[in-house]
Parts: sequence; C-alpha cells; structure tokens
Amino acid sequence: MNCEDARTLRHWLSTPQRILLIPHKNPDGDAMGACLGLQHFLLRTQQAVTVASPNEFPAFLKWMPGAGEVAYYCKEQERVEALIREATLIFTLDFNALDRTGPMEEALKGAEARMVMIDHHQSPEDYADIRYSDVSMSSTCEMIYNTIVALDGAQVLSPQTAACLYAGILTDTGSFKFASTSPETLRVAALLMERGADHTEIHRQIFDTNRPERLRLLGIALKNMRILEPYNTAYITLSQEELDSCDYRKGDTEGFVNYGLSISGMVLAAIFIESREEGIIKISLRSRGSFSVNDMARTHFNGGGHINAAGGRSEAPLEETTRRFEALLPEYQEKLSNP
Ligand code: 5GP
Ligand code: MN
Repeated sequence: MNCEDARTLRHWLSTPQRILLIPHKNPDGDAMGACLGLQHFLLRTQQAVTVASPNEFPAFLKWMPGAGEVAYYCKEQERVEALIREATLIFTLDFNALDRTGPMEEALKGAEARMVMIDHHQSPEDYADIRYSDVSMSSTCEMIYNTIVALDGAQVLSPQTAACLYAGILTDTGSFKFASTSPETLRVAALLMERGADHTEIHRQIFDTNRPERLRLLGIALKNMRILEPYNTAYITLSQEELDSCDYRKGDTEGFVNYGLSISGMVLAAIFIESREEGIIKISLRSRGSFSVNDMARTHFNGGGHINAAGGRSEAPLEETTRRFEALLPEYQEKLSNP
C-alpha cells in the first residue's frame, strides 16, 4: 500500500467506523484469512468490524479465530443488507470485481460506505476509493500484512491475526511452491511465525483433517482423469452423482486440479465439477510457465484469476462442456507446446 493511501486509511480509522470485511463467493483460505486476520487487527482499535461472506466456506478453515461469527448473505440476507447499508467503511478482499460476490453485488453497488479493495488478481474494477491491487503478490494475506505494516501495526500483530494470514499465504502459494512465492513472501511468513503463527498446527488443520469420503472422491477424480498428450493437458470431471456418492461437502475438491499438473510434461490442468444447485459446471484451470489460464477463463468460461490459476463456469452440461474444452485446445497448441 502506498504512503498516501496508508495515510488516508489511517485518518479514516482514527475515528470510530462501522466496518465490513467481504470475501469473494466460495471463499478460500486466502479470502477468509484476509478477512479474519484484518478483523482481529482492527478490533483492537475499538472499531466495530464484521465479516460478511456471500456463502459458506470449507470446514478445514473453521479453526480460524472468529470463523464462528461470520455473517452469511445466503442465510441472513436482510441482516447483511442492513450491515452494508449502515457501514461507513467496506473492505473487499481477494477479489476486484463486485460480481465475484454473487448475489451480494447489487447491495454493494448501492453502498454509501467508503470502499477499500485489497487484491492480487488481474484487471481490477474501479469501484474502490482506495485500490491496493498488485498482481505480483502471492496472496491477499501478504498484502494485508503490508497494510498492517503501513498502518504502523506490525508491533501489535496478534497470534490470531498471524495465524489467519499465514494460512492464507500457505494455501494461495500451494505451500510456498507456486511461482508467485517471492523472497518477501517467505520473510512475511517468517515474521508471522515469530508473531505466533503455529505453522505445523495450521498445516495439519488445513491438509490433514480429511474425511475418508473425501479421499474416496479423490479416487474417483483420478480415475476420471483424461490425459491429452498432444496438448500437454490433463483434465478431471466430477458429476453431481459422483459427488453425492461421497457425501460431498464444500471444500472437498480443493486441490484436486493440481494432480493433473503433477504429471511430467503437463502444461494445462482442468477440473469440471457439476453443481446441480447452481445449474452450472464450475471450472478450475491451472497451468505452468507463461500459459495464461486467466486469458482462457476470461475468453471462454466467463471467469478469470491469475496467469497460472483461474476459474470460471459453463452453463452447458458436463459432457458438452468438456467437449468444448477439448475443441479449444488446437487453438492453443503452440502455447501448450512451448509454455
Ligand atoms: P479456483 O480454481 O481455486 O476456484 O480459483 C483459482 C483462482 O481464480 C482464484 O484466484 C480465484 O479467485 C479465481 N477465480 C475462480 N473462479 C473465478 C471466476 O468465476 N471469476 C473470476 N474472475 N475469477 C475466478
Ligand atoms: Mn488469493
């Protein structure tokens, strides 16, 4: 965050505000870590701070301090709309386009509060009064750490905030392995450890709390994987029926898409997951090198994200969606051969 924006934000926070922190729909570790980490930090300055999420987040993040007090638009629409109406300061975290909040979009568009965007995705919209947008960042949580430093708060950063931010950095960097992990990311992670983030326990809570059904679902996903050698591409499908057979819960498919890229030589990996409830196929794309899945998701799947990790959706049935995906690959042949 630049000095001028930090000064402005510090000025706003010098008087009592009604603050709302908002993650994107289907919030992941980075979005929830950013909201809950910043909430703990702001609470100590006596502000009224609520996290309001469009919908539920995965069970493997429920250990985060404050997770139990999150307000959900999908369950308490009127309460959240009142919070948005009455807010004086709204932070939108880990997204940069209001439609990423799904059905909350309209209420947010009508909000009178000042808006602060903190985010690391490409192509930010123009709705915020303060826009801290940096695609070179590993995670929004790393940016929240920088924001806290800019607000002169590093010395009072609590173990609760440290744990939330560490969890977001951990999940968004694929445990510090993605190209977005910089030396500075590791320095921030180290500082968070010094501030009380218990890295072994956080890792256990996120990665080693599987239900057996989730591993059975992974078995089905791997069995369904198709490998298209000429295009260095691997993709997985999961139908609603397959999800149901394994008692699917939110977050169960997190990370499945990465198995495609773990095959030697693969440049592009995808997963197509049927959602009967939403009437769509949810798509996750991952890539290696300079192949931009952000472009692919934006151009063909009504989505977006980062160069090497993006998501989108299709309204066509599962089989038609994968047929369309396969039909796109010749157009990308050159880039898939030389990532
Ligand atoms: P995932 O595949 O894990 O859902 O998302 C990968 C990345 O793409 C995340 O950074 C996420 O925020 C972004 N992303 C996922 N779905 C969408 C989408 O529908 N639209 C946009 N703009 N970004 C998405
Ligand atoms: Mn993120």
